[in-house]
Amino acid sequence: MMELKSGLSAFVTGGASGIGKALCIALAQKGIYVTVVDFSEERGKEVAALLQKQNIKSQSGLKVPSAIFVKCDASNKGEVAAAFEKHVEVYGGLDICINCAGIATSVPFFKDQTDGSRSWRHAINVNLVAVIDCTHRAIKIMESANKPGVIINLSSSAGLYPMISDPIYSASKGGVAMFTRSLTPYKRKGIRVNALCPEFIRTDMGEKIPPRLIDIMGGYIPMDTLIQGAFELITDESKAGACLWITNRRGLEYWPTPAEEAKYLLPSSKMRKRISSTVPITTAVQIPRSFEKVIVHTLSHDFRSATSIIRAPLKLPIESGHVLLKIIYAGVNASDVNFSSGSYFSGSKEEIRSRLPFNAGFEGVGLIAAVGDGVKNLKVGTPAAIMTFGAYAEFVMVPSKHILPVARPDPEVVAMLTSGLTASISLEKAAQMESGKTVLVTAAAGGTGQFAVQLAKLAGNKVVATCGGKDKAMLLRDLGVDRVIDYKQETIKNVLKKEFPKGVDIVYESVGGDMFDLCFNALAVYGRMVVIGMISQYQGDDGWKPRNYTGLCEKLLAKSQTVAGFFLPQYAHLWQQHLDNLVHLFSVGKLKVAVEPKSFVGVQSVADAVEYLHSGKSVGKVVVCIDPSFSQQSAKL
Ligand code: NAP
Repeated sequence: MMELKSGLSAFVTGGASGIGKALCIALAQKGIYVTVVDFSEERGKEVAALLQKQNIKSQSGLKVPSAIFVKCDASNKGEVAAAFEKHVEVYGGLDICINCAGIATSVPFFKDQTDGSRSWRHAINVNLVAVIDCTHRAIKIMESANKPGVIINLSSSAGLYPMISDPIYSASKGGVAMFTRSLTPYKRKGIRVNALCPEFIRTDMGEKIPPRLIDIMGGYIPMDTLIQGAFELITDESKAGACLWITNRRGLEYWPTPAEEAKYLLPSSKMRKRISSTVPITTAVQIPRSFEKVIVHTLSHDFRSATSIIRAPLKLPIESGHVLLKIIYAGVNASDVNFSSGSYFSGSKEEIRSRLPFNAGFEGVGLIAAVGDGVKNLKVGTPAAIMTFGAYAEFVMVPSKHILPVARPDPEVVAMLTSGLTASISLEKAAQMESGKTVLVTAAAGGTGQFAVQLAKLAGNKVVATCGGKDKAMLLRDLGVDRVIDYKQETIKNVLKKEFPKGVDIVYESVGGDMFDLCFNALAVYGRMVVIGMISQYQGDDGWKPRNYTGLCEKLLAKSQTVAGFFLPQYAHLWQQHLDNLVHLFSVGKLKVAVEPKSFVGVQSVADAVEYLHSGKSVGKVVVCIDPSFSQQSAKL
């Protein structure tokens, strides 16, 4: 989170009136030095004087004036260059540039009989060309100082959809929006360019809009709302190339929505290659009379001795409202051993034992093999996922509402189910993750950890991740982790103490035991720790033993901290939405999915795979290929 604090400097074009003036005042109230840039000398000087007066008390003893005025026609490149030079000369750098200068077209386009130099060409010059010029100059200054900076360009709602009364204004503001959205690559250099797209605000320009139109739009937007939007774009470090649409009807809303964006964003080159070799899935799935599955026959955290493989009859016809899914890949989870020991069922030991035998496996992807009566919109041959018990099987029959349609029956998609969804939903709901924070992830190169680190990075956070081993550390660096702590090489406690003395804001913790204590002690004031699991405790000699946390309440109270639990089955209502988002991020190349390279084939290999996960050697998501013949066919798809 970039902090709006004294010592920063801002350059605001069109700063003498309307939105520009309001932003100058709001920035100065935060103690920020402001250069008011405007065509109008009289009003510009007035604003600069007002800011100086306002800041006398808060910044007494300043060596530089808290605000200056520079007369400048934003469409005159020589004057613009001189204005930026003046700003850097006085304030020694540039942190914030707000390109606010804008005009309506003086002669309506459809009545214009001139060559446009004084009307529409001029409007394009002020509204668009000048914004490009100022953005370009601001970027150069920020780049040469090698410091982060933010540029806010004033577009308009008329830059997002047509404004029939002033097509030139709409064209110029549309240009500003698209120009801004195309500048996301500068984020890598710490320079973020964003656009504000408000509907009507009561300014000199806004006053000229017919009152009837203002009424239809729900009235003028309060200036405070606009300032709130501008500050959000400046402080939120995840925002780059963002267009913030501001209306009275819907408040602050980013444009386009992720769903709209998904329609035009092209997949990454890797995905494109795969998609280009895609053929439609027409494979009819042969339905055998019986199939193999893994069942739990004895309650034990030792998965191998708790389970066996049985052959079960495939009962036809398919029950009404149900779907038969042919499983191609099943996902392996740390908690398979908790399930086999009965820990996830409530009731007395006897009641739990009475459930035996029960089916094992939490998740899988495959193809729909058959549908029962009354099932609409799901067709045989469609790739789908399930997150219900019984996925360690060649076939699963489930109520159709449990089917999650997916684009491809791939191992990467299996990884996005329990592992990906746990990270995605818990970081949003339990961690209440925003941006600009420090996020610590444990077992970070594992099934769910790999998603947590990437989602935290994508949201604009600094990410610290723990793992045991060089291969895992390499993966985490490749995923963009800022500080990888390989506990086989370094002591986690020492690194945290030395490099993060103020603590970390969010912990995504799944190891438990001593690791919980260590992470909890590294939590900052107001910090949130999400308990995802406690893999180190699952397999003691007598199984999972609850641990005592002496003094937990006292420590939480002393630092206003939160420890939040998260259990994925309780968030089933969010699965499809979050899965679609993960698949989208993956398909556009923003998310990588690591699948453990060691292959496990057939239901016979499930126990090996579960033990391998618990050996601590696995990197990424452990997946069992239940049917290799189908996996080869689907790989060609
Ligand atoms: P995973 O992270 O792929 O698990 C393997 C990793 O955990 C290992 O590579 C190792 O990483 C670490 N580990 C394994 N055994 C350990 C031990 N005895 N002591 C310390 N570390 C050990 O597994 P996962 O399926 O994704 O599950 C990770 C955690 O998330 C588990 O605690 C699981 O229960 C939890 N989970 C919770 C939910 C939920 O809804 N709350 C959902 C899914 C998963 P390093 O050595 O590199 O640290």
